[in-house]
Amino acid sequence: MIMLHSAGFPFFTFANLDRFSTVKHFVTCGNNAATDINLRSVGGADNRRRLAQTIGFDINRLVTGEQTHSLNIAVVTDADDGRGSVDIDSRIPCTDALITNRRGIALMVLTADCVPVLLYDPATHSAAAIHAGWRGTANGIVGLTVKKMANEFGTKPENLMAAIGPCIGACCFEVGGDVAEHFSRWPDTILHRSEWPRPHIDLVLANRLQLEQAGVPASNIESSGECTKCGPNGLFSHRRNQTLGRIGTGIVLM
Ligand SMILES: [Zn+2]
Repeated sequence: MIMLHSAGFPFFTFANLDRFSTVKHFVTCGNNAATDINLRSVGGADNRRRLAQTIGFDINRLVTGEQTHSLNIAVVTDADDGRGSVDIDSRIPCTDALITNRRGIALMVLTADCVPVLLYDPATHSAAAIHAGWRGTANGIVGLTVKKMANEFGTKPENLMAAIGPCIGACCFEVGGDVAEHFSRWPDTILHRSEWPRPHIDLVLANRLQLEQAGVPASNIESSGECTKCGPNGLFSHRRNQTLGRIGTGIVLM
């Protein structure tokens, strides 16, 4: 489960990552009546600055990728400091996962129904922020990121802590048969019910299974359990209201 930290800019955290004083992380929410907390690159710059102040990272060291539903994973170094921190043009192009072992760099992905995933390896002190839409999930971006961390940093999957953020739940993610076919290697993620005209996909389960297949212990994987479309916290959801608002999910090595 995740808790809401209400001081300053509102955000959630995961219990399995809260245990480590060596890393900071956050999941932001949606707009409520009182505040605009959209973190999208267009119009969200001031909110990103407020977020950085609240969490305690340097806004000039925030890094984001272009997020094109690719399988590209960027190894973020000090040379990338601030790429896409408050603008679009300097984002790391065509990239959906960011990994680093550099302290102080904040990796962030933006979502509104897609699946945000954070990884932390306390043994090699390295981290990842991943944007996994249905395509990225079906194509295995989370498992590929675990492999990339192993190659780049010597990460052993059994040491990884994984946090799956709020996304569109199996309750609401109705798809066509063509999309469902992409999930055939995880049959349990394709759900049929008599009251549903079309199949639903469980993206959280697909990412969880993928992490387990990559060697991450099930007990190290936490998911928020909240559906962006129908959950109680009013999170940004593209399917609910075609919003341009985005949830920010990020991680910073201390
Ligand atoms: Zn739902």
